[in-house]
Amino acid sequence: MSSPTDVGPVGLDDYRESLGIDAPDDPVNAALADDLRAACDGAVRFDEYTQILYATDGSVYQARPAGVVFPTDAGDVRAAMSVAADHGAPVLPRGAGSSLAGQSVGPGCVVLDCSRHMDAILDVDPDAERATVQPGVVQDDLDARLAEHGLKFAPDPASSNRATVGGGIGNNSTGAHSVRYGITDAYVESCEAVLADGTRIRAREVVLDGPEWEAIVARDDREARVYRTVRGLVEDNAEEIDARYPELKRSVSGYNLHKCVYENDAGERCLNLAKLFVGAEGTLGVVVEATLSLVSVPEETALGLYCFSDLVEAMAAVPDALDLDPSAVELMDEAVFRLARESSEYAAYAEPIPADAAAALMVEFDSEGHDDLEAAVADAAAEFVDSGAAFDALAAHDDAQQARLWKLRKAAIPLLMSMEGDPKPYPFIEDASVPPEELAEYVQGFMGVLEAHDTSAAYFAHAGSGTLHIRPVLNLKDDEGIQKMQSIAEDVTSLVLDHRGSFSGEHGDGLARTQFNPKLYGPELWTAFKELKTAFDPDWRLNPGKVVFRESPADVGPDADRGVGADMREHLRYGPAYASLEPSTEQEFSEEGGFSHLVELCNGCGTCRQTDSDVMCPSYRGMDEEIATTRGRANMLRAAISGELPPEEIFTERFQREVLDLCLGCKGCQSDCPTGVDLAKLKAEVKHRYHEREGAGLRERLFAEADRLLRVGSALAPVSNWLANAPGTGLIAEKVAGVARERDLPEFADQSFASWFGSRGGPRIAPEDAVDRVVLVPDTFTNYVYPETGRAAVAVLEAAGVRVAVPDLAPSGRAAYSEGFLDLARERAEANVGALAPRVREGWSVCYVEPSDAAMTRDEYLDLIDDPDADRLARNAYGVCEYLDRESALDRLDFEAPDDRLAYHGHCNQKALGTDGHAAEVLRRAGYEVEAVDSGCCGMAGSFGYRAEHYDLSQSIAGLLSDQLRDADADAVVAPGASCRTQLADRRPAHPIERLATALDR
Ligand SMILES: Cc1cc2nc3c(=O)[nH]c(=O)nc-3n(C[C@H](O)[C@H](O)[C@H](O)COP(=O)(O)OP(=O)(O)OC[C@H]3O[C@@H](n4cnc5c(N)ncnc54)[C@H](O)[C@@H]3O)c2cc1C
Ligand code: SF4
Ligand code: SF4
Repeated sequence: MSSPTDVGPVGLDDYRESLGIDAPDDPVNAALADDLRAACDGAVRFDEYTQILYATDGSVYQARPAGVVFPTDAGDVRAAMSVAADHGAPVLPRGAGSSLAGQSVGPGCVVLDCSRHMDAILDVDPDAERATVQPGVVQDDLDARLAEHGLKFAPDPASSNRATVGGGIGNNSTGAHSVRYGITDAYVESCEAVLADGTRIRAREVVLDGPEWEAIVARDDREARVYRTVRGLVEDNAEEIDARYPELKRSVSGYNLHKCVYENDAGERCLNLAKLFVGAEGTLGVVVEATLSLVSVPEETALGLYCFSDLVEAMAAVPDALDLDPSAVELMDEAVFRLARESSEYAAYAEPIPADAAAALMVEFDSEGHDDLEAAVADAAAEFVDSGAAFDALAAHDDAQQARLWKLRKAAIPLLMSMEGDPKPYPFIEDASVPPEELAEYVQGFMGVLEAHDTSAAYFAHAGSGTLHIRPVLNLKDDEGIQKMQSIAEDVTSLVLDHRGSFSGEHGDGLARTQFNPKLYGPELWTAFKELKTAFDPDWRLNPGKVVFRESPADVGPDADRGVGADMREHLRYGPAYASLEPSTEQEFSEEGGFSHLVELCNGCGTCRQTDSDVMCPSYRGMDEEIATTRGRANMLRAAISGELPPEEIFTERFQREVLDLCLGCKGCQSDCPTGVDLAKLKAEVKHRYHEREGAGLRERLFAEADRLLRVGSALAPVSNWLANAPGTGLIAEKVAGVARERDLPEFADQSFASWFGSRGGPRIAPEDAVDRVVLVPDTFTNYVYPETGRAAVAVLEAAGVRVAVPDLAPSGRAAYSEGFLDLARERAEANVGALAPRVREGWSVCYVEPSDAAMTRDEYLDLIDDPDADRLARNAYGVCEYLDRESALDRLDFEAPDDRLAYHGHCNQKALGTDGHAAEVLRRAGYEVEAVDSGCCGMAGSFGYRAEHYDLSQSIAGLLSDQLRDADADAVVAPGASCRTQLADRRPAHPIERLATALDR
């Protein structure tokens, strides 16, 4: 239990330092860790938490690494690799860890996390359409920079908002536009890489038998041996390479032996090792710098959606679609539409799809290929609908329409993965690729395999390049499910071979598919792969078990058992031995399938590492630490409930501090996480248990009662205001309550909002004249600190003919909930539901100026109390702007808005509940020009930012928001959240309702 003044490390650097530093290294690897620390500038963490955080990726696999190094530059990578070589330790380079086949999971490996420091864009040459980058740069960040020049990096994996270029090179990534652009290997011109023994090489186009070639191979070093071996393997296996590599736009299984020797534009035969590093999944070397060729961004695109009554007929139409020179041809099937219609988040996107569509082809045309996009879309409709193949067509020409269709298409994975219960649509044979003309037969064959295994799947994705995502629904927590996975993979790989396809057209080999590579490539090429691997990495220490494996210790490779065997059933995240505790909970978790199910919903996709849109996850954005992601927290909680960590660990101060305390409770993950991992709710539950067991300190209680304290402070104003401003108060507040000394304490208004309302005689609209009746909740901040906001709300509501009441209510309980005092939060919930229920039953609506309180009523109250009155209140509770928008109140008002351009920053809690759009909408209707900024969290999150130990993180998050608001280039900022306004005080933001009141034409 912490004392009031024991606030832990203050400041981001201190905090980061403390992560894993004061925790002991795993003793098995302590000597390795010590030597790495001595050799590397970047942090080295070998403690158990770090091992758990890096044990998973976006796949079904899990295995603890030895530890993690965060290299600062190529020199650091080299130093780490040399130390690992001395210790004979395996090494695994890693980016965002979003891989789907387990290639960023490495048992016992030294993980080199290149995403932290090695993320620079070193050079952009717009004329040459070329960029040079470090491997850790996120693809979307690179594209944002290139957009200034009308350029982009062509491969566009759906995960590009967190996936790194290094990871894309490792996996040979690609995306929906591979029909137009192909895959990553076409765009990596050259790269710098560090080999397992520390050798640094520059992989580039070398003309065979030219002077450069001769100079390299004349040497007797690792690089020379690699060049000689690769050339020999390609020349000796020329026939097999011709015969065995599938002729496809996308094939990322195995090594790129078929692409590393080619004729260049000058007609010279060249060898380019960079083409081999692409798709090697980190098994040949660690890429420390890459020079990429770029393409221009099409000026315009248009989409046609063609609906079929039969999935196989849709597949059969793909070759015709390709004849129309599209830039993308994507498929969605009935399962995707059905799940979208059932989902509150995606239902609207599925609305235009006819109910009887069994499948749809979504075909994109761009200005790179077509002068007349209207005609291109219409021609496709003629091709498919007029000929009778499809029964309906939709066209999307403006950006918003197109974005909605893409959103529906990209919703497929999240919708499938949020399926309730243990059986889930798992990725393991989900991205096989066949020639497009084979798709129809291939799909029929796949259906047969699924039927034989008594399971089902949805079908979607990149039909145009012959890659369908098909994830069979299995329960990998039981042995039968695991055996089925293996058996389905065996059958599907045979089917793919029959159709001249590749086992992976997108996501790579990893732990899931490496086992099947000998089947695809045959004995000669398989031996060539092993020789290739040995030339680069004689001890097979780089990401062992991926892409290639050895049959026995006597096989090609080192005189040891490293790299022997591959079995997709090993290292599973779940498995028959997996069991999780289902704790009894204070909150209702039945909708989420229980506490443990909510934790296990995290599939590791890494979306919570996104940096540029949505809210999730501010603590990661501010800290750049895996433990500060929603995924990190969910992984740690899963370890705690499944026995991977000792049962008592969850109640240790370290777990509380490192895993939970930096979660802002912003609820961003509730809506932005594709599967809805609601960490704010999980945190509140665990914190509650912690307080119950360990007792809560004075400081925690003070923060939990912050709303009550504000009430007292207000009663004592102006004395409390004078005290707050007195010299030394900040220091005392920090010493006594752990409040950051840099923070100004709230300044209380002379007259509270409720008292003002009473003093003017209460409601001004008589019952008989009222169009509607609204209880306006005097939340703590509005009441005591920002009463002008409440007055503005009254002015607008009354102008719209609404009778307004402002009763005396208990605080909402939000502060108590955030601190994990669930008993107190429930007490408050019961008091407020009890007080408001009679009015709600009489037909009053309940409006909130403060979004976090509105969200509390609509969401958390229902988890805390089981009461029909709470349900009724939740259905009738609104943010004040939402009320005005929904109830057509604006139709009764005349506005004359000043000629201001406003940047609107919505509150995280509103965004989580999908009610964020109303404020911007009503401001626009009042005549303002509004840019609704796709902003993140403000970093304040109630009392979070007031805590001394959170101050730096809070400011770091606020800095990101400030950048977003600055980019919006508006005259003024509006923000409905009181804490957001406090955080943005230097911009003097108003609540949207104040701006509406200003615009009232009275
Ligand atoms: C929801 C979802 C959608 C996805 N959609 C797509 C898609 O559309 N297309 C697609 O191709 N993939 C997709 N993926 C898979 C994955 O996100 C991509 O392949 C992505 O490019 C991987 O980037 P990363 O930074 O996460 O790499 P990581 O997973 O960290 O690493 C990937 C591989 O690259 C290696 N590697 C990492 N850094 C280096 C380096 N510096 N040097 C050498 N090797 C290195 C790793 O060892 C590993 O083998 C998707 C994943 C998810 C979860
Ligand atoms: S928490 Fe959600 S977004 Fe993050 S990795 Fe897990 S499933 Fe993906
Ligand atoms: S509640 Fe907010 S800070 Fe916490 S994990 Fe979710 S998105 Fe991150």
